[in-house]
Amino acid sequence: MNSTSTLSEIQDFKGTYPKQIWGLFFSEMWERFSFYAMRGMLTYFMVYHLMMDEKVANLQYGATQAWVYAFTFIGGLFADKLLGFRRSLFWGGLLMITGSLLLAYDPKNLFFLGIAFNIVGTGFFKPNISSMVGQLYKDGDYRRDAGFLLFYSGINLGAFFGGFVISIGKGTLFADTIPEKLRWNVAFGLAAIVMIISLINFIFTKRKLGPIGASPIDETKKENKWKQYAVYAGTLLLIPAIMKMVADTQYTDWFMYLIGPFSIIYLLYEMTKNTAAENKKLGAAFFFIIFSVVFWAIFEQAGGSLSLFAASNINNKLLGINMDPNAVNNSVNSLFVIIFAPIVGILFIKMARVKMEPNSVIKFGLGFLLLGLAFYTFYSIRFSADAKGFGSLNLLALGYFVVTFAELFLSPIGLSIMTKLAPYRLQGFMMGMWFLASAYGQYVAGLFGASISPDKNADNLQKMMLYTQGYKDFALYAVIAGIILLAISPFIKKLMQEVK
Ligand code: GLN
Repeated sequence: MNSTSTLSEIQDFKGTYPKQIWGLFFSEMWERFSFYAMRGMLTYFMVYHLMMDEKVANLQYGATQAWVYAFTFIGGLFADKLLGFRRSLFWGGLLMITGSLLLAYDPKNLFFLGIAFNIVGTGFFKPNISSMVGQLYKDGDYRRDAGFLLFYSGINLGAFFGGFVISIGKGTLFADTIPEKLRWNVAFGLAAIVMIISLINFIFTKRKLGPIGASPIDETKKENKWKQYAVYAGTLLLIPAIMKMVADTQYTDWFMYLIGPFSIIYLLYEMTKNTAAENKKLGAAFFFIIFSVVFWAIFEQAGGSLSLFAASNINNKLLGINMDPNAVNNSVNSLFVIIFAPIVGILFIKMARVKMEPNSVIKFGLGFLLLGLAFYTFYSIRFSADAKGFGSLNLLALGYFVVTFAELFLSPIGLSIMTKLAPYRLQGFMMGMWFLASAYGQYVAGLFGASISPDKNADNLQKMMLYTQGYKDFALYAVIAGIILLAISPFIKKLMQEVK
């Protein structure tokens, strides 16, 4: 334990990664385990245990996702103003644990209450841990992107294992050890336990973080303490409102119409306090954020239309071995991320040492082109279809292989670039805006997915044609976005100034 590290001691680390990154890596890994475990169970539990109509369940699932990511904006904002990253993270973690415990206690009757706690909790946890990763690095340190890539492996390690928790609920895992009537309680309870591990791990990590993540206000002053208590109390008061709004998705639509414009107006207001150079950087950050909405709208087909497509139109042979195409659809991307994120990170470092590393704008542009290539691969599945409309699982997995590189060129780089472009006092806010873009992306992904969904009486071959035609269109959108980004890259680079 060395509680006295100064910022420069932390940031002047030798080697590839700062040692504090591992603590943040594991806390985020367990948090994502909890989050993806819950996410994986949502729609299934709604349809098979709360007896909801599938369409309603899909809408509520979309609303939950949109709220989770929209709330990161609020979590980031309060971290900057009052709580600091550490307290925000801890508060978020406690809310998530409470939510999962409520679900574990009575998943049927406390369902929406538990979900509401989880939404708000994730909002306080998720953006702020990423911001702390950024603070381990000095401005201009060429190792920062690699750090975020490593952190991103942690995210996916958690996501990968979290995805299996649903099997405990369904009774396809540990069925002999857990009595049938307790299976869902145990599954949701597991989400609470891993979140407890995440926080305990953070308590140890915190000691090594020196001043990183401390509160932005003088906490010895009584009135400042009261302001923090007011945030905690306000959060709890919000929970019933969130509960209501998730259950009635029309409110989510309204919220989504309002929060984006509000965040932009707030950003403009904050910009009045900045220097021109700082504002140019925020302008550049804004381009990254807007493009990321398009990226997630296409990428997030994975949890929506692609999973329905996998269920109805993909065979079950992966390299000759029998596999559930839905399991491949859900987890192969995480697996590839875990394997390739550190490799891509080290590659970037090597390229930086010989001054060959592509700039972040170029990485983003390449990310879009790769996303296009991946969706052309999904399109190509139609050429492997048999007479019943079943296509190749190998091609689906190949598409995800390419998607993984698209994601690695954009998502961790986006986290990293937010920490490079935001002035210190707006770090949490900008990270929140980055995730808010994910909220919009998820939202648009639902609309995109619905626009290519076949109607009820379509046969399998027609479904194959409709879905793959949709993927071809999305591929084209991605390629167009990539070309635009590469074309305007000189302008964005100018706004970024010395930032790479
Ligand atoms: N899969 C990543 C995570 O869970 C990115 C999510 C996102 O920004 N949409 O952190």
